[in-house]
Amino acid sequence: GFRSRAAYKLKEIDETLRLIHPGQVVVDLGAAPGAWSQYVRRKFAPKDVGAGGAAVGELNGAIIALDLLEFEPIEGVVFIQGDFREEAVLAQLQHAVGDRLVDVVISDMAPNLSGIESSDAARIEHLVELAVDFCQHHLKPQGALVCKVFHGSGYSQLAELFKSSFRVVKPIKPKASRDKSAETFLVGMGLKSR
Ligand code: SAM
Repeated sequence: GFRSRAAYKLKEIDETLRLIHPGQVVVDLGAAPGAWSQYVRRKFAPKDVGAGGAAVGELNGAIIALDLLEFEPIEGVVFIQGDFREEAVLAQLQHAVGDRLVDVVISDMAPNLSGIESSDAARIEHLVELAVDFCQHHLKPQGALVCKVFHGSGYSQLAELFKSSFRVVKPIKPKASRDKSAETFLVGMGLKSR
């Protein structure tokens, strides 16, 4: 099993668009409790069948996860605890990435919502903008960004931001996220050169 049912959303997106492959560098934003990292970790070591689940397959790829909250360690996953909006935290992430280019950035980051639609939309927009900005500096030209967004105010601006940043943009609403009606995902593939 996975630490959270969130894994099934990424699985559905990945099975539709075939984004995650062994050998990649993946950055997982808003990673706690860790189900998306677990999903990627397993794809990087498909022969992960140790006795009693103790042994894990050799890691073919790199996973760097970040969250505000604590994160129970996953073997092979580098974890950074902090706020993605803070310069110092971004610097830690950049240090962990080093001079590699990232294949896929996955972001399930969601702010605590206040219920005030305009300020919630602004917070979501800010996180998504920062994720896109990170991609513009660290993603491979052919790389992809999977990002949680919310329908409602602010969605069309974010879809436009994706279209101005990526060559191909796919909105996708996994069946596994049907319970949360406003939640949906934007996937950007291939950076547009600026
Ligand atoms: N994908 C995760 C999984 O599979 O386990 C679930 C992610 S959960 C829906 C959203 C996460 O985003 C929360 O753990 C929250 O702490 C994190 N988050 C929200 N704002 C953040 C920020 N500014 N910086 C880092 N993490 C943030």
